[in-house]
This record gives sequence, C-alpha cells and structure tokens, in this order.
Amino acid sequence: MQSNQIISYNSISPEKVFRGSQAWEHGKESIPLISQRPLLLGRSKATSQIRAKLFKELHSLGLKPAQAELKNDCCEQDLKNISKISLQNNCDSIIAAGGGKVLDAGKLVADRLNIPSITIPLSAATCAGWTALSNIYSPNGAFIKDQSLKSCPKILIFDHTLVRNAPPRTLASGIADGIAKWYEASLVSSCSNDGFVQQAVQMARVLRDQLFIDGVEAFQDSSSDSWIRVSEACALTAGLIGGIGGVNCRTAAAHPIHNGFTQLKFSKAALHGEIVGFGLIIQLQLEELYSSNKLAKQAKKQLINFLNELNLPISIDTLGLADTSATNIKKACNFTCNYQSEFNSLPFYISEDMLYDSIINTKIHHNEKRYSDIKI
Ligand SMILES: [Zn+2]
Repeated sequence: MQSNQIISYNSISPEKVFRGSQAWEHGKESIPLISQRPLLLGRSKATSQIRAKLFKELHSLGLKPAQAELKNDCCEQDLKNISKISLQNNCDSIIAAGGGKVLDAGKLVADRLNIPSITIPLSAATCAGWTALSNIYSPNGAFIKDQSLKSCPKILIFDHTLVRNAPPRTLASGIADGIAKWYEASLVSSCSNDGFVQQAVQMARVLRDQLFIDGVEAFQDSSSDSWIRVSEACALTAGLIGGIGGVNCRTAAAHPIHNGFTQLKFSKAALHGEIVGFGLIIQLQLEELYSSNKLAKQAKKQLINFLNELNLPISIDTLGLADTSATNIKKACNFTCNYQSEFNSLPFYISEDMLYDSIINTKIHHNEKRYSDIKI
C-alpha cells in the first residue's frame, strides 16, 4: 500500500541555464525580465575586470545596477553588509559573479531578502552556481553550517569564455569535489528505496567516469572539448545530482573531514575541492580498515593516482598543514565527528582516534607520480 504521508521537496535546477562561449551575451537578455535594479556581487581582484564589463553591460540593458564586494567569506558579517547595500539601493535581485563563496553569499542574501538570484560562476571549482544550498563560514573561513534555500537560482549563466580565465587549479579542485559525489553518495545512500536518490547515485557514477576519462586532458588544455565537458560536469551536473538526490543523498566522510579541516590555519590557502579530495583518500582508507569493502584499497590507489595527475594534495603536508600540531589535528577530528555531522551516518563506526590515526598515516610525498611507489 502506498503512503502519501511523507512529502519530499526538491529544488532541482535553476529556471534557466545558459551555457557556452556566448552564454553571457544571450543570457543577459533574460535579466531585465525579472530585475531592474540588480546588485552585482563579487570578491577577488582577479575577477574585477570581468565584473566591470558585466556592470557596464547591465547599464547598457537599461538597468540600474549597484555593486558590492565580499570582504572575508560567506560569513554573517559579510552577509549583513551585502543585505544592507541591497536594501539601501532598493535592489530587486542579486547577481553573484565569482567562485563558490561569492555564489553562496549571493544566493543566501537573495533568499533572505526574498528576491531572485542570478549566478555567473567564474570558475568550475564548485557547483554552487546551481544548488539551493549555501555554506556559512566564519570570517576566517572556518565552516559553521550549511543552509538550505527556498529555491535554486532563477538564472545561471555559465559562460565558457569567462570561466576559461580561471586558473587550472580551480578546475582540478572542482574535479575532486565532483567525483566526491559518487564516493560519498554510494557509501551512505546505496540502501535508499527512493528512486530519485538511486538515480542521483547512478548519475554520480557516470559523472565520476566522465571525470576519470576527460579530467586530465581538461586540466592540461582549456581549449579542448574535454575542458567543456569537465567544467560543465563540475559546475552544473554535480549541482543537478544534488538537486535530484536532495537532503536524502547525503555526504559521507570527505565533506565532514573538509569541514573539520577548515577550523585549522593553513600555511597556504586551500580550495574547497582540494580539501575534499584529501578527505576522500581518508574516507577510502577508513573503508579499507574498518568496513567489509574489499575494493576500497584499489579504489584508494586509483584515486591517489588521479589526484596526483591533477596536481592535487594527497597528504596533510601537501595540503598546507605540515606544521599543524597533533592537538589541532585532533580538534579538526572532533569537529568532523560532532553530533550534528553527517560523518555519523557512515555505515560503520569510526571514533575520533581512528580518524586521527588515518589522517596521520597519509604522509605521502606529493611529487610521487606512480601510486605503486607510494607507501600507503
Ligand atoms: Zn563540495
């Protein structure tokens, strides 16, 4: 007998998605249909010229745009400041143009002010331009919580010409974040009876295969067809999988490990996907040691080899935490294992000490290119 008592709500996709080398030229025509006074939000100096061009062209469309910049992170202080600027200028939409933090902040402010958001990712480092979810951090970048939003952005413009300006490192980071969907969802959601969740997990497997096939060429050559497939897989398809899977298609260990590590001070700033990629290695190591999955060891070797080819960090040393004390690594483990963490949904028990030992055991040299040489 069917039950109608449980309702699932999914925000699956932006209403309009423009993608391609002329996406901005076409997509911008849709903005005046929903907004007259957009707030253009950005952050880094590296993207300031692009944002200046977007701002000028918004004017040319007959709009009255205002501008704001993220100072620290997608943190409450910045969110309040952006809200204030938006209200002062009577803005009726937020256009977020930048990386994951800018996109998350723009979506969240728009959600709080009940105005539409428009996302223009300027790298393929995350799928934040797509999803109805924002991560909130401290001003120093320490993860605090994630926040579900009422809907996905109204319009997403993924302009290849703009995204090609981003450093290759951001694409590598996006690839690590993209393949995490499979490793995490297949571990914790494979017992789900929900068809949407099952289909999301299958899509995550196809996404992983595509990234394994095309990822290295895309990383090495941004003019290749592989680059188009891979950047769209990381920035768009990964978000679609999150939309279909919804809250029931959860993360496992890699993202909670990321959240724990963001509590620490890095010697060089690490990108979201770089930390998640390292978290995946730890997750597979935990599966190898403490679950009955006999394939975890092979999967870990395959993953390390792939991350190496993308020049991604594969140890706490190469991640920028070589000088971090044992006490601080233990603090990160404590955060990862806290009672609200999805780490607790792992299908086998892992204590803080077990997690700590696994992290410390990954003293791998980054320059090793062949996994057969790596001591793991
Ligand atoms: Zn992620």
